[in-house]
Amino acid sequence: MSLYCGIACRRKSFWYFRLLSTYVAKTRYLFELKEDDDACKKAQQTGAFYLFHSLAPLLQKSGHQYQAPRHSLLELERLLAKFGQDTQRIEDSVLIGCSDQHEAWFALDLGLTSSSSQNAAIQKPEMETELKGSFTELTKALFQLNTKDASLLTMAQALLRWHDAHQFCSRSGQPTKKNMAGSKRVCPSNKIIYYPQVKVWKRLSGEKLQKRWDWRWKDCSTLHPSTGPFLIAHS
Ligand SMILES: [Zn+2]
Repeated sequence: MSLYCGIACRRKSFWYFRLLSTYVAKTRYLFELKEDDDACKKAQQTGAFYLFHSLAPLLQKSGHQYQAPRHSLLELERLLAKFGQDTQRIEDSVLIGCSDQHEAWFALDLGLTSSSSQNAAIQKPEMETELKGSFTELTKALFQLNTKDASLLTMAQALLRWHDAHQFCSRSGQPTKKNMAGSKRVCPSNKIIYYPQVKVWKRLSGEKLQKRWDWRWKDCSTLHPSTGPFLIAHS
């Protein structure tokens, strides 16, 4: 009995150790991508993109459930080319997380237009036909998504919304520039840095999912190398 317990405990602590080291490695990797534009751009090559249109995520329905399809960079480039869009638009995407194997995940809104981009919004119906899905209001689909996708898409939506709302510096009125990962926006004229901070979901009780957002953004030039928005969701 005690021998069994010893093995079980060791297994358990090994499991915790594995979990912790995976978590630490992921956090480090995400931190690197948030700070290093080149590393982030490289991560896009092997990454996966979740698409949005005017903050509504692209979803596919199978039975009573929704799924969020993911697209590779190559697929995305082909898609944009097909709709006569500049692939430069991919730079509007924001980093939303990564897998245990360090596949980076990004979100891109094809309906919103950034101040820096010359692209017009892409027509929604044509895009939906092409992508075999529909851009669905997230609140309507939330309970038909699995917990992981629901929390990921909610965070992605919040981050895309934050970027859309902070395209201009509140002091100088000049357009702010997003870094590659979308972990900050910088005003070129007075060097103010804006950081989004997003707290993600908690599964509170039973099947009830409740959002708990905590919005704070700072305008400070050098302090606080970004801490958010990648807080890991606990279920
Ligand atoms: Zn400014």
